[in-house]
Amino acid sequence: MSGKVGFISLGCPKALVDSERILTQLRSEGYELVNDYQSAELVVVNTCGFITPAVEESLNAIGEALSETGKVVVTGCLGERPEKIMERHPNVLAITGQADVDGVMKVVHKTLPVDGNPFTSLVPLPEYGIKLTPKHYSYLKIAEGCNHKCSFCIIPKLRGLQISRDASEILYEAYRLINIAGSKELMVIAQDSGAYGTDIKHRTSEFQNKQVRAHLTDLVSELSDMGAWIRLHYVYPYPHVKDLIPLMVEGKLLPYLDVPLQHASPKILKSMRRPGGAKSHLETIKEWRAICPDLAIRSTFIVGFPGESEEDFTELLEFLEEAQLDHVGAFKYSDVPEADANALANPVPEEIKQKRYDRLMSLQQKISLAKKQAKVGQILDIIIDDYGELPGELIGRTKYDAPQIDGKVFLTADGTIKIGDIISAKITSANAYDLFAEY
Ligand code: SF4
Repeated sequence: MSGKVGFISLGCPKALVDSERILTQLRSEGYELVNDYQSAELVVVNTCGFITPAVEESLNAIGEALSETGKVVVTGCLGERPEKIMERHPNVLAITGQADVDGVMKVVHKTLPVDGNPFTSLVPLPEYGIKLTPKHYSYLKIAEGCNHKCSFCIIPKLRGLQISRDASEILYEAYRLINIAGSKELMVIAQDSGAYGTDIKHRTSEFQNKQVRAHLTDLVSELSDMGAWIRLHYVYPYPHVKDLIPLMVEGKLLPYLDVPLQHASPKILKSMRRPGGAKSHLETIKEWRAICPDLAIRSTFIVGFPGESEEDFTELLEFLEEAQLDHVGAFKYSDVPEADANALANPVPEEIKQKRYDRLMSLQQKISLAKKQAKVGQILDIIIDDYGELPGELIGRTKYDAPQIDGKVFLTADGTIKIGDIISAKITSANAYDLFAEY
């Protein structure tokens, strides 16, 4: 072995994919991955730098790793703002930016030189690399960065403009994940999955003797032939998204769209520098549902954005009432260091933000409960994510729920069912978050 490396992975699924790449590289070069500070000769911390609490969490993790091991390499989103890190932790070995596998490896090589022993350096590596998600599902990152300029967001500053991967590269990765690593479900992610390929002018590349365009519709139609559950995240409602909905009806693509809308008032959306408003959002959702009535839609919203009046907020509530979304995440607006929105006039007082947040959540709870209850009596496919506490207890998900963020299904079955199996079971009851089923 070349040396013992500890790894701390923080942040969103996009950061998780970067962690997997670095871990795979470390392992392929013969480094031993350890999960305690005592054995680690060096620690890599993959940071998140999006909102203030995430920055704090990252800085604390760096501090802890430094005091335990003295040798820390920082990478990830916060690494794009080295001054923040140096201010608190001037003794880190190096700071590299997001997705910079080579940058991390350079410092690792210098600190823990490769031992050159042909027997220990050729550690067999699973062909699909190291995954931080369970074996049965994986995130599939199709692009880095973002070309938008939403006023509350610093991702484009941190991660740069969008760089899409060639379709063939993504498809070969998906192929390996499904056929070699055994993934049953792939979650397609990017900052804006709908804009995939625009930066590389939708150039084609060859996958299994076929030219495939770097365009979301072409990519997804290829993915949907691979026999796994394919779930789309972070899709802005561009017109071409409609072309994907028939694949959901055919059962080739999960009837699920994660569409971060952020607000419904055109005035607030404009000041967020995002297009649309309640009317256009509703029209799009209506069109999608006309093609695929059981489409589950997840969205996120910011309440208390600077300048949000009671009227704007009511418009958002009315939109939610009408849109009947399946899953809603809400955030109280908070300043993100260096975001343009910090300078906007009329900040909303904290107690009003909190009240609006509570009102939105209680409305959505009612909607979610009704949506979940409508599933009672149906026989649905359920992917098993975990075992429960008692023998025979299982925890799974329907096609309408993404792992980690949406609801679960609790059921009991005989001991033959394993994690990653997809079974059919009858939904017997529901609450606003979860379902209960009988196998
Ligand atoms: S679309 Fe907007 S919110 Fe999303 S990453 Fe890009 S700039 Fe940020």
